[in-house]
Amino acid sequence: MTGSHSVWIVTGGSRGIGAATAVMAGSRGASVCVNYVSNSTAAQAVVEQITDVGGRAIAVRGDMAVEADVVALFNACQTAFGTPTVLVNNAGVLDQEGRLEGFSADRIARIIDLNVTGALVCAREAVKRMSTNNGGSGGSIVNISSMAAMLGGGATYVDYAASKGAIDALTIGLSREVAREGIRVNGVRPGVIETEIHASGGNPTRARDLADTVPMGRAGTAEEVAEAIFWLASDAASYVTGSSINVSGGR
Ligand code: NAP
Repeated sequence: MTGSHSVWIVTGGSRGIGAATAVMAGSRGASVCVNYVSNSTAAQAVVEQITDVGGRAIAVRGDMAVEADVVALFNACQTAFGTPTVLVNNAGVLDQEGRLEGFSADRIARIIDLNVTGALVCAREAVKRMSTNNGGSGGSIVNISSMAAMLGGGATYVDYAASKGAIDALTIGLSREVAREGIRVNGVRPGVIETEIHASGGNPTRARDLADTVPMGRAGTAEEVAEAIFWLASDAASYVTGSSINVSGGR
């Protein structure tokens, strides 16, 4: 599902792990739909990094928590490059660190709407197009979870951690559902990775602050996560489905 005929959709592809993944896939021969929700400058920069090395990419705005936007993203991809062969279900948010007693239902819903419902709807649209049952040619879905699904996010963001636990269940369940339809479904659990997500949790230096708690003694890079995503999406992982890889420096 990589190489010159692969067509990738990367949700949240404008920054962080999604951007690194989009650039990696695009520079290795894939056509890439770079989804973003508000930062068109960042999305355009990712597209340019790909086209500058002779690759093919477009930026597509869309809120992955909104069903109509998800469908529009898949339709835009179909129009530009043909049927997607890889979905990287990456768009995700967290919120200010704290304890559950302080979390409003609105805050929790915002996280679940994107991280869980959005990921499910994106996966649904991918299966509709990729499944050999539906006349598709197969494909690969990589869901971006988090080590928070294993560690629980206590006293920081249990809501976010719970949303990532749901992603791990999605990876296992959907992989079994579509295993005979040419679709592999896997996950990646990043640990502490240097991106701008930590600023949105109110702690921009979090990745560096936590470096000492990581057995390897440092935060990871978005590119290190992208390598695992790329491998899982590629034909090199042809017998791998229902697996989630920790990319966490041992944390
Ligand atoms: P990031 O740097 O904050 O980037 C977030 C990306 O998601 C941006 O491209 C943003 O688009 C996009 N986005 C946000 N809300 C969206 C929405 N409603 N619809 C579509 N796109 C949306 O995040 P990151 O650190 O790369 O995280 C990527 C994934 O890895 C997330 O699922 C996250 O939970 C997971 N993860 C990250 C870490 C870490 O330490 N960084 C650890 C574990 C798991 P705009 O540019 O338009 O805002």
